[in-house]
Amino acid sequence: MNDTIAAISTSLGVGAISIVRVSGEQSIKIVNKIFEGTDLSKVQSHTIHYGKIKDKDEVIDEVLVSVMLSPKTYTTEDIVEINCHGGISTTNKVLELLLTNGARLAEKGEFTKRSFLNGRIDLTQSEAVMDLIQSKTNNERKLAINNIEGRLSKLIKEFRENITDLISHIEVNIDYPEYYDIEIMTTEKIREIVKKQIKELKYLIKESENKEIIKTGIKTIIVGRPNVGKSSILNNLLEYDKAIVTDVEGTTRDIVEGNIYIEGIPLNIIDTAGIRQTEDIVERIGVEKSLSLIEDADLILVVLNSNEKLTKTDREILEKTKDKTSIVIINKNDLEAKIEIEELKDRNIITTNTTSLKGTNSLKEKIKEMFNLDKIETKDYTYLTNARQLSLARLSLKSLEESLKRIEENYPLDIIELDLKSAFDNLGKIIGIDYSDEIIDNLFKNFCVGK
Ligand code: GDP
Repeated sequence: MNDTIAAISTSLGVGAISIVRVSGEQSIKIVNKIFEGTDLSKVQSHTIHYGKIKDKDEVIDEVLVSVMLSPKTYTTEDIVEINCHGGISTTNKVLELLLTNGARLAEKGEFTKRSFLNGRIDLTQSEAVMDLIQSKTNNERKLAINNIEGRLSKLIKEFRENITDLISHIEVNIDYPEYYDIEIMTTEKIREIVKKQIKELKYLIKESENKEIIKTGIKTIIVGRPNVGKSSILNNLLEYDKAIVTDVEGTTRDIVEGNIYIEGIPLNIIDTAGIRQTEDIVERIGVEKSLSLIEDADLILVVLNSNEKLTKTDREILEKTKDKTSIVIINKNDLEAKIEIEELKDRNIITTNTTSLKGTNSLKEKIKEMFNLDKIETKDYTYLTNARQLSLARLSLKSLEESLKRIEENYPLDIIELDLKSAFDNLGKIIGIDYSDEIIDNLFKNFCVGK
């Protein structure tokens, strides 16, 4: 049996009302001890009662008490919520009385944790509760409420059902290998279903990565040799002179940052120091910094000078960014073209100059297209919402891809089945099936007390 927990659920400060929440089998008994009014053990579920909270003979507050009986409550346990007058002293006193009468102070997120452990919500829904509390923008709020309603859980469960279906097909093949015809038919079916699952899971992951962008913006860096026009491009994007533009090589030594918005999505841009081999210690630090920034950027703008042939440094930058989400900006196209453009045919290219804002507009359009930004408002907001969910989905995708590879290479079905099971298990972990206690404890620690 769970003990009965209590906590202040509203933020502690001066306000019209505060809510002290109690959950557990003893909730009603404990509140009854300090409540003067109706006998709460005799009232119907989901009713509100006026009365007084008393410490022996002393009246602490006039309150409204909500009684919600198991199982249709937030935690699925009996819950009593005491609506008292706001203010630190009164609220603390009510809580203190509950604690001296048998309740235990709830840990952070313990009400939601109970809701999860008691099977009312799954892990994605629990996480969404926290996201909703912490949401600052309309988009974040929409994402969170969708997940509380279980849209993501439903999607993950569908993936799992399809994989279970596959596994059972495979079991048939292993158990009845003599049905040769069935095996051929089934292997084909398995391949098709795996392909479909891969496609859909990939889509969900990609959309979810984009969703991170809704929340945090696109971390963008501009890289290139000195003097190719990086600061000018940044200035045009920012439409004001934050970066100092000069034609002395290596002027933009340190890092210049700025924010612009495309379709309401922030583009957090960093202009890095010119990348080149140099003896200058200050610039060298900048160069190393810019190369290290390539790693965790969402978008890299590689700037080249159309008026010069590709240099060794240009090629080095191109090599380092070739597998990243990047746009190669061939700048200074108002001058004679000398660059070996055919070498860049596999890249996302924009040819432009900074003398007008035309180039800036085509760059913005390109970014919009690459990140699907113009469709963001029409999306249905069912996404994986955090790194935990995303990494499990990626693991699951990897196993599915592995299984497809093995199907095509005619591996035995029991080997293929192992990959599918691993995909299935990792999907389960997203919604909290087969969770480890450590993960659960960690997750709920980020909540506030009283939630
Ligand atoms: P950075 O060192 O890469 O940041 O380059 P800057 O933005 O400081 O530009 C270096 C020089 O190139 C400056 O004199 C700019 O005016 C000039 N420049 C930048 N963009 C263009 C362009 O599109 N065409 C021409 N002709 N000059 C440009």
